[in-house]
Amino acid sequence: MFYNWCMTDAFVKLQEIAVNMHLEPAEETNLNPAPEVAPCGQVVAPRSSTAQPRHTAAKQAALGISHAVMPGGKTMPQLKTLLTTACERNCYYCPFRAGRNYKRHTFQPEELAKAFMQMYRAGLVEGLFLSSGIIKGSVATQDKILETAEILRQKHQFKGYIHLKVMPGVEKDQLRHAMTLADRLSVNLEAPNDKRLALLAPKKVFFEELVRPLQIIEQIRQEEPAHLGWNGRWPSTVTQFVVGAVGETDVEILSTTEYFTKQLHIQRAYFSAFSPIPDTPLENHPAENPMRKVRLYQTSFLFRDYDFGLEEMPFDQQGNLPLDIDPKLAWAKDNLSHNPVELNRAHRDELLRVPGIGPKHSHTILNARRRGQLRELNHLRQLGIATKRLAPYVLLDGKRPNFQLPLDL
Ligand code: SF4
Repeated sequence: MFYNWCMTDAFVKLQEIAVNMHLEPAEETNLNPAPEVAPCGQVVAPRSSTAQPRHTAAKQAALGISHAVMPGGKTMPQLKTLLTTACERNCYYCPFRAGRNYKRHTFQPEELAKAFMQMYRAGLVEGLFLSSGIIKGSVATQDKILETAEILRQKHQFKGYIHLKVMPGVEKDQLRHAMTLADRLSVNLEAPNDKRLALLAPKKVFFEELVRPLQIIEQIRQEEPAHLGWNGRWPSTVTQFVVGAVGETDVEILSTTEYFTKQLHIQRAYFSAFSPIPDTPLENHPAENPMRKVRLYQTSFLFRDYDFGLEEMPFDQQGNLPLDIDPKLAWAKDNLSHNPVELNRAHRDELLRVPGIGPKHSHTILNARRRGQLRELNHLRQLGIATKRLAPYVLLDGKRPNFQLPLDL
């Protein structure tokens, strides 16, 4: 059955588009993910529910199906594709840029909606992430994206997850329309400011085309009733940066990330480590070290979930994070080594500053304290809390616990 679909025109297009979709991380895990490292320092193992027989995973990837990790941890097979791989813009890092010698594919909204529903009914996918190259301007392109989502919602009565890309510089009414159709919207900033963007995507205008839509979406979320949104709530927003292509520093990326997280309430920033594409202006630029991306993710989560600020991060003189230590651990070494946190008295925000303690573990500790004193590391282990990372930075009933120094991962 799977092979029969792959013989149709639509599925051949999906396969050929999928080859170049790696620059859109959306919310998926990779098929063979490097372990994600949470800001608390715990390595987050891939969930067993995402584990696929290798051949099935490869077939799915070939069609553009990835496994998204949703809020709450549920995983979901998602079709990630484009309405068209033709584009009139010329972003320097992009395989779909204008003028590149590359076979292009275009879907009509009805055609893509139909292909998606075939996959959905066959149990191959549960959600859609839809982007597009830009043809005849952003407004016309966004209309096609909206038309596809509307066909899915109205004609096919699809109630599942839809993530729509917002084209640069679209109109307010289009944004509001997208907010009535999608669970999530993304506006890719690509670079942390206008100067860096000019070196990366010279036809995109940072403030008017990229920042403004995120501001308008937030304004609508604040001023208009949420029941107007899809499923009775407004969609979340995310953005993405291409990291390591134009000399931007971590301070630049993270100051922009902090602003958008705290002021415009984006759900998360995605970081794509730059990798050169043949026949683009950056084809000879070296690929970025993937560990830089890990440190950026950790820091962005510290802003979002741990209330850390930019000024607390351990930047070097060039404005970059060290790659050999996670930023929360570096902060703890400087600030908690001689000033450990008493786990029996600390407030939640103080607990969250301790390596190895995240929102879930802080909740567990606060609950356990109501039942009695935490006197030894074993009490924490009995609560399901690993103690190697936190031990050097805490007091238990006024005493430092015995510990071995952990590795700086
Ligand atoms: S607008 Fe830029 S990033 Fe988007 S498809 Fe076109 S060239 Fe690629």
